[in-house]
Amino acid sequence: MSLLVTGKIQVLPEDVSCRIAAGEVVERPASVVKELIDNSLDAASSLITIEVEEGGRRLIRVTDNGTGMNRDDAQLAYQRFATSKLQTEQDLFSLSTLGFRGEALPSIASVSRFRLKTIPSESPVGTDTNSEGGTAWDIQDYAGAPGTQVEIRDLFFNTPGRLKFLKTVGTEFSKISYTVQQAATTNPHIHFRLLHHNHKVLDYPAVSTFQDRIIQIYGPTFLDRFLTLSQTEGPFQLTGFTVSPHYAKASRTPQEIFVNGRPVKNTTITHAIYEGYKSFLPKGKHPQFIVCIQLDPQTLDINVHPTKREVRFSHPEVLHSGMLHAIKQIFFSGSSFEINPQEAVREHGAVQPHIPTTKSTIPSLAVAPASVSECAPTKGNRNATHLSLFAQEPTSTYTAQSQKFHVFPLGQIHQTYLLGHINQDLYIVDQHTAHERVIFERLLQAWSRKDLSQQGLLIPEPIELLPHQGALLEEWLPVLAQVGLEIDRFGSRSYVVRSVPAILGSVTVGPLILELLEELSEWKSTDSLETLIRPILASMACQSAVQAGRTMTLPEISTLLHDWAQESFPMTCPHGRRVAIRHSLEELNTLFARTSES
Ligand code: ADP
Ligand code: MG
Repeated sequence: MSLLVTGKIQVLPEDVSCRIAAGEVVERPASVVKELIDNSLDAASSLITIEVEEGGRRLIRVTDNGTGMNRDDAQLAYQRFATSKLQTEQDLFSLSTLGFRGEALPSIASVSRFRLKTIPSESPVGTDTNSEGGTAWDIQDYAGAPGTQVEIRDLFFNTPGRLKFLKTVGTEFSKISYTVQQAATTNPHIHFRLLHHNHKVLDYPAVSTFQDRIIQIYGPTFLDRFLTLSQTEGPFQLTGFTVSPHYAKASRTPQEIFVNGRPVKNTTITHAIYEGYKSFLPKGKHPQFIVCIQLDPQTLDINVHPTKREVRFSHPEVLHSGMLHAIKQIFFSGSSFEINPQEAVREHGAVQPHIPTTKSTIPSLAVAPASVSECAPTKGNRNATHLSLFAQEPTSTYTAQSQKFHVFPLGQIHQTYLLGHINQDLYIVDQHTAHERVIFERLLQAWSRKDLSQQGLLIPEPIELLPHQGALLEEWLPVLAQVGLEIDRFGSRSYVVRSVPAILGSVTVGPLILELLEELSEWKSTDSLETLIRPILASMACQSAVQAGRTMTLPEISTLLHDWAQESFPMTCPHGRRVAIRHSLEELNTLFARTSES
């Protein structure tokens, strides 16, 4: 009798392993679009059309007029690790193509209903081939214009687990639109078109320069706000644009990095740019930039991740210092832009953003400085409140929810923390987070009571958005309307905000909308209304709460402390940051080793 136990390991069937591997390349419809555009670019196309239905779930069709494939190649193309772009491992370090792994088409085909029509320019007959889930390929002759068309229907139809992770149609489409925009940015000579449900969303005809393409994408005023980066000597070539500090915003759009034509995420470059800006940036603002770096492929590892969104440099320190130098030079060169860092700080409020430092009247606190979102990097909720305060006596007694509070405002430290004596206790309160929490609670209560009154803006505020941002915003306009944000489309890339919740006072809506867009991109259509609305209310609260760095008068302090007490002394803001430190009389007595009799 054999003592051997049957082994547990088995080799997975090809179709299963292919679907699992596909997970790395095909995360969502936008990843399909990226891979197909890369292939069309590698095939020397001059016109690439992307048609999409239902945010890419139902249909993605990419048509190009490139080199096409002959019958043999077309049949090989959908096999794993079949590529025309490299032959040896060493070729990885001299590549001029975007693709090289030979796994995009088979991966996509394994999780979709896939059809490829292709015809090379010298041939009268092309190939039309299709499959369901990457198996049993059907092949036929095809006649048509030279080039290739890849059609993906019902993405993830055979992997329902992945379908679940897709976001709403608007969100998925927004990601597709962004992908097309990125490809268009570095390929000005190529005409890109993007259609959603046959409706043209992007159309960038071929232009002769990078600058022209930037204007097509970002609009004609872009060049007024951005400084030109250009470096032709040294270990890498650099072209691009970086925002003039005057125009820096709280938003991180655009922050685009292209290395040898690939859009990538890279902390070395991003860090160098932030370092370069340092004191030029007002607090809470970010640099916006579009940076194209060209370097010797021998010094670059592009095979870090299947999506090819990351690269590794053989000498990151050289790149970091070169980038830092390029950014600093633009500020100090005296050519296009001259500014003294101290002046920048003073003028643009790096220490203290546009906030009146004189004793304020009521509206100025309610309205306060929406330029900076203190909580922006953290996800979650935020909040703020309309301070109804200032007619109060500095020392007062309030009755709220059958509770009496004796509030003695003591003062403000570093224009950030409030000192107050409430009932028997001493409090040190962060003015921003406390105000934020109060506004949040009041917004939430008003919304739950269906009593969130709107207030029309005296001058409706226009906001310029990129197409992918607009797609996202439009999808959620009805929900935003429910929280008092009335926004209309106004021209091809502009929106106008007509009203905001009255509780917010006169918040500056531009930064608020940009911050909301970050929240919206995470939304799923299955989320409950309250789940959706909480982070919006939190963003609103954060944007309209009084910021750190703002001098507050005693009556203002008194009112804020009272409002906060009235909300039952919440100790965190909606994003989880601490609001206050409390010392009771007993704790003080213990600290000072004082017994109650002594
Ligand atoms: P990779 O791009 O990494 O080589 P893919 O799976 O994306 O791998 O494509 C496999 C091969 O199919 C490519 O190497 C190329 O030869 C061919 N191919 C794919 N798309 C196109 C296209 N649009 N035009 C011409 N050839 C294409
Ligand atoms: Mg490819």
